[in-house]
Amino acid sequence: MVKISLIVPCYNEEKNLQKMYDALKVNAQKLATSKGYNYEFIFVNDGSKDQSEMILNELAAEDEHFKFISFSRNFGKESAMFAGIQYASGDVCAILDADLQHPPELLGQMMDRYEEGYDQVIAKRTRTGEAKVRTWLSKRYYKFVNKIMDVEVEDGIGDFRVLSRKVMDAIADLPENNRFSKGLFSWVGFKTTTIEYENQLRDEGESKWGLKNLWNYAIDGIVSFNIRPLRAVIYTGVVVTFVSLLYIIYIFANILLTGVETPGYFSMISAVLLLGGIQLISIGIVGEYVGRIFFEVKKRPVYLVGETNIVSKPSMNKQDHDLIKMRGTHE
Ligand code: UDP
Ligand code: MG
Repeated sequence: MVKISLIVPCYNEEKNLQKMYDALKVNAQKLATSKGYNYEFIFVNDGSKDQSEMILNELAAEDEHFKFISFSRNFGKESAMFAGIQYASGDVCAILDADLQHPPELLGQMMDRYEEGYDQVIAKRTRTGEAKVRTWLSKRYYKFVNKIMDVEVEDGIGDFRVLSRKVMDAIADLPENNRFSKGLFSWVGFKTTTIEYENQLRDEGESKWGLKNLWNYAIDGIVSFNIRPLRAVIYTGVVVTFVSLLYIIYIFANILLTGVETPGYFSMISAVLLLGGIQLISIGIVGEYVGRIFFEVKKRPVYLVGETNIVSKPSMNKQDHDLIKMRGTHE
C-alpha cells in the first residue's frame, strides 16, 4: 500500500490550522478510497508565537494520522520543509502551505502524475490577484536568476509539490545549511512534471514574506548556487585595470609631448572614486561568500526539534550513516 506524507510548514497560522487540516483530510480520504492510499499529516510548527502548538496537540490527540514537529524557535520555511521531509515515513510526500494557498484538491491530479512514474510533480500557480509590484519584481528576478544560475528555477513555481521517496532521500542527504529549496529541488532533478493552478489568495492571517524577506531570498538564490558573481568581479577588475593603463599611457605621452598643462584634479578624483567604488563592491561580494563559508563550517543543525509525537528517528543522512559505520569499526 502506498503511503503519502502530507507536509505542512506553519508559522503563526492559528487561524488556518483547523481549516487546513480539514481540507487535507477530505482529500487524503479521497486518495484512500480511490487509490487505496495510506496517509499521514506532518505539520511542522516553525516556532509559532500564537496558539498553533496547542491546536496541533489537540489535532494529534484526535487523529492517529496526525504528526507534528515543533521547532524551538523560528528557523524559516526552508528548515521546516527539510524537517518534514526527514521525518516523513511515506513512499511519497506532498508539501503544502498552511494558508490554503496551495489547494489540497489538486492532490488527486498530482498523484495521478506520480503514478505515471514522475518523481517530482510541481504545481505551478498563475499570478492572478497578486500585487502588481510583486509580480513585476518576481518576473525580473527569475529572468535575472536564470541567466546567472546553474540550476533552473521557474516563475510561479513554489514549494507546492509531490516528491517521490527517491527525491526525499536525495534532499535529506544534502547537508548544507543555507537551504535555498527551489534551487535544491531543481538541482536534485529526477523525472519532473508540472501542472497549473489558479493563484489563491491567503485565507487568514498575513504573509510572512515582506519585501525585505523576498529581497534576502533573492540574494540567497543567487549566491547559494554558484560563484559567478566572483568571476564577474574579476572580469570587471581586468577591464578597469586595462582602461586605466591606457589612460595613464595617454596622459604620460601628453606630458612628454606638451608638458603639464593643468593639474589633473578632476581625473584624479574620478579615478579614486571609481576604483574605490569597485573595490567596495568586490569586498561586499567576497564577504558574501566568506559569510557562507563561516556558516557552513559551523555545521550547525538546520533545525532543532522542541516537541514531536513521532517516535521513529528521521531518515539519517549519508554522512551520519558513514560516521556511525566508522565508529562501529573502531569500537
Ligand atoms: N512559514 C514557515 N516559516 C516561516 C515563514 C513561513 O513555516 O518563517 C510557512 C507559513 O506558515 C506558510 C508558508 O510557509 O505555511 C508560506 O508562507 P507565507 O504564506 O507567509 O508566504 P507567501 O505565500 O506569502 O509567499
Ligand atoms: Mg502564503
